[in-house]
Amino acid sequence: MTQARLIDGAGIARELRAELAGRVAALARAGRTPGLAVILVGADPASQIYVRNKIKACAEIGIRSLHETYPASLAEDELLARIATLNGDPAVHGILVQMPLPGHISPARVIEAIDVRKDVDGYSIESAGRLMAGVPGFRPCTPAGCMRLIESTGTSLRGKNAVVIGRSNTVGKPMAMLLLQQDATVTLCHSRTPDLAEHTRRADVVVAAVGRANTLTAAMVKPGAVVIDVGMNRDAAGKLCGDVDFAAVSQVAGAITPVPGGVGPMTIAMLLANTVESAERSRA
Ligand code: NAP
Repeated sequence: MTQARLIDGAGIARELRAELAGRVAALARAGRTPGLAVILVGADPASQIYVRNKIKACAEIGIRSLHETYPASLAEDELLARIATLNGDPAVHGILVQMPLPGHISPARVIEAIDVRKDVDGYSIESAGRLMAGVPGFRPCTPAGCMRLIESTGTSLRGKNAVVIGRSNTVGKPMAMLLLQQDATVTLCHSRTPDLAEHTRRADVVVAAVGRANTLTAAMVKPGAVVIDVGMNRDAAGKLCGDVDFAAVSQVAGAITPVPGGVGPMTIAMLLANTVESAERSRA
């Protein structure tokens, strides 16, 4: 058995951020500094950390971020009105509303209120339709980041079997679409898939996006496969872990992402990339 090559998401994200910093500097010289509005409603501790990380990442490459925090009691109408104002603000190129929202606010209404040209999370129905149709638009950050990680291995996806575990609108489904666009033969598995291993054992590429530790074990992986672990879970000791049994699967796979240091840093880097792209497309 050979040890899988580690896919260094943190390093690949660093390289991408450096490239983006150059593009931000060029935009700034042209008087078009990219701007990202980040809205947090309520005081969920995990959301506060995510928002802080995104704002820090923006600052590091020169993107101007507008951080707006509102109490959990904020009325939906008020949030929609704020989004409408940001839609019309030429200094704002991306609008991100941190999920989850308090129960009285409809995430669907909020996402649809964001101008599709500023939908840097790629969550809107129009962005999803653009992805489905294979026309330009913002791709959701996590699956777009996973594609970069797969590319980094030098693996051509054409004609390969790819299995995605998990079918959420934000990760699993767009991931399957992106793999399909690169000519992979894609299988999308979920909680009602009777025999997950039957699919994963045939896969040249597996993307696990479930939210349950040890969903993918060594016996489920084809030797030499590329394994991308999207999951973010806590093990019994409270340590961050993915969906993949990393120690055992890395003895079988050809390449594998660690958790942390794999998909997570790429997700943020792709958010920055979408924001920069939005600023480049805008006519300020
Ligand atoms: P989600 O909306 O909860 O979706 C989970 C998916 O997994 C569902 O489609 C579910 O199937 C499927 N599933 C559950 N149990 C399964 C099983 N035993 N076998 C096969 N499929 C199963 O989660 P998500 O938002 O896609 O996120 C997935 C994981 O990725 C979470 O751990 C999340 O924290 C992590 N994540 C990480 C990043 C990052 O940047 N690193 C970004 C986003 C998400 P059903 O549809 O049938 O219920």
